[in-house]
Amino acid sequence: MKQPHIMENVAFNLIKQAVIYLPEDVKRALRKACEEETSETGKTQLTAILENIKLAEKHQAPVCQDTGTITFYVKAGSQVKNLDRVEATLVTATRKATKEIPLRPNAVDPFTQKNSGDNTGRFAPYLQWEIVPGDSLELTVMIKGGGSENVCATGMLVPGEGIKGLKKFVIDAVIKAGAQPCPPTILGVAVGGGADVAMKLAKKALLRPLDEANSDRRLAEIEREILEAANMTGIGPMGLGGKITVLGVHVDYAHRHPASFPAAVAFNCWAARRASARINADGTVEYLTHKVEW
Ligand code: SF4
Repeated sequence: MKQPHIMENVAFNLIKQAVIYLPEDVKRALRKACEEETSETGKTQLTAILENIKLAEKHQAPVCQDTGTITFYVKAGSQVKNLDRVEATLVTATRKATKEIPLRPNAVDPFTQKNSGDNTGRFAPYLQWEIVPGDSLELTVMIKGGGSENVCATGMLVPGEGIKGLKKFVIDAVIKAGAQPCPPTILGVAVGGGADVAMKLAKKALLRPLDEANSDRRLAEIEREILEAANMTGIGPMGLGGKITVLGVHVDYAHRHPASFPAAVAFNCWAARRASARINADGTVEYLTHKVEW
């Protein structure tokens, strides 16, 4: 990357876009949920959520008081220069965003309980790298609240139970989570790999827009079945009862060891915050999810 200041600005803008403006696909799904919800209480909750989203945009304030923890997904072209400076640049952008937007400081040392005060620390923000051909760099930020993170689940299932076992695992996790992840949620589900791979894929699956179908028809069918089952639990918006508990289910997989069947489910709350941009080799920037710039 020739100009780290460009990346710093882009990362700052992405964090700001994400915490204030929910992606259009999430807003559309919430509006549809509000139309389709049959429970009066559920409808009231969804109406309040939609009002909350409007107020955040109007006042340029974070859509939820929990501005979460920050993960950057970095898809870097193999010809991009100075990749060793990316991490430091993203840390600087995170500090600036915490101070100026502002964000709630959410990075705590688990041993001393000391809050760093600026959302940075060991593996904070967390970076997920992917090296691809080319000379541009795509940056995606995912901001994830504690409520939805607290109910993420991994399990080592019995291989013989197959996909039936996976569906049961996911629905059990949804029932156990109840109101905690601020439903309606989005579920990232992954099977295979090892426990770490499954959770990594499950979280990454949350980045797929809600209106983008899974390109694998087998997985699309599993997603449909899990969604239907999750919305029969009656948990409803904010856990107060209703038919819309989950807005979407995104499934991914990795090949597994014959004796292992790792599974993971990552929850995202209704405040499903993500934003992406591409920085081209000539320094031009394309914002991919949000039209807003500062
Ligand atoms: S789970 Fe999401 S909506 Fe609920 S408090 Fe946390 S960040 Fe906010």
